Amino acid sequence: MKKVVTWGLVISYIALCIAICVIGIKIFDGNYDIVAEGCIAFIFLLISCGCNIYRAFSNRCPHCGKIRLSNGKYCAHCGKEI
Ligand SMILES: [Zn+2]
Repeated sequence: MKKVVTWGLVISYIALCIAICVIGIKIFDGNYDIVAEGCIAFIFLLISCGCNIYRAFSNRCPHCGKIRLSNGKYCAHCGKEI
């Protein structure tokens, strides 16, 4: 499940970058009809936010069960090695 979320995050970031590039090119060309691209960018922004939130809450310490906010070697709550 974690791998799926990581891939979802990577793909949604790439798609978001492409959508923003398309919006930029269209505005540069004087074409302000960017509603569809704006919607696509917004959807992928929501997906990447959701993946980030899921990753933050699924990153728990195996010893005390508290959420780890950093990716360090030791838990900030109980101090045990992870
Ligand atoms: Zn802990």
